[in-house]
Amino acid sequence: MTDLANAAQRRRRPARRPSARPLAPARPLAPARAVGLGVLLAAAGAAVVQAGPGITALRSVRTALFPPLSGCGAADHVAITFDDGPDPAATPHFLNVLAEQQVHATFFMLGSMVDRAPGLAAEVAAAGHEVGVHGFDHRYLPLRGPRATRDDLTRARDSIATATGSVPRLFRPPYGVLSTAALVTARRLDLTPVLWTARGREWAAGASPGSVYATLAADLAGGGTVLLHDSDCTSPAGSWRAALGALPMLLEDCAQQGLRVGPLREHQA
Ligand SMILES: [Zn+2]
Repeated sequence: MTDLANAAQRRRRPARRPSARPLAPARPLAPARAVGLGVLLAAAGAAVVQAGPGITALRSVRTALFPPLSGCGAADHVAITFDDGPDPAATPHFLNVLAEQQVHATFFMLGSMVDRAPGLAAEVAAAGHEVGVHGFDHRYLPLRGPRATRDDLTRARDSIATATGSVPRLFRPPYGVLSTAALVTARRLDLTPVLWTARGREWAAGASPGSVYATLAADLAGGGTVLLHDSDCTSPAGSWRAALGALPMLLEDCAQQGLRVGPLREHQA
């Protein structure tokens, strides 16, 4: 199925995580460093607004034209990111592994999850991890109006700021799909949208730590941003366990390749 067909399918049936093909390996592009993040994001935003929602779901387009938006960073660094938490059943396990490995990561949190477990959100931040906005509810943004989008992102930003004591600066839209209203709101809230270059697909049927690691490893490259989930609130029950099991393998692979790992705040060259 083509990316275009996938995007169309997502617009018709947004309830579950879309089944797009794995993304291409990150290829750090010189313009990301030469031109500067702000200029590129401005250009990306303008292009997305003109092209309409859904363009950021097109892997080849976003990776080639919008490297920072795609999560492309320094060639010797891999950003580790987690979506959909904080989840009391899952997130502490990820925090333990990261602490054992002395690694920091970026957690894109849902405001609705933060409101249920504000202490855990604070714990994530206190452990030195970066916290970004994933929305308040896990909804497909192109189907939401401007006001609903603005209210959702603002509410999520405020919940996270209240719980963690610091105002988030990064934003990852649910399903990795932006809308014009989301871009406008993100800019108003000073949130920088960042997607990913490799994901584990731990939410797929039959996923295991081995399959998640193999999926990630196929797309793993310096400059890339890895997406895993520290919650199953939008996916099959217990799917986060496959991500948790894959995490040490992923970190070992990066170490063997001589790649630094860390949060997105350390990702730019
Ligand atoms: Zn999500």
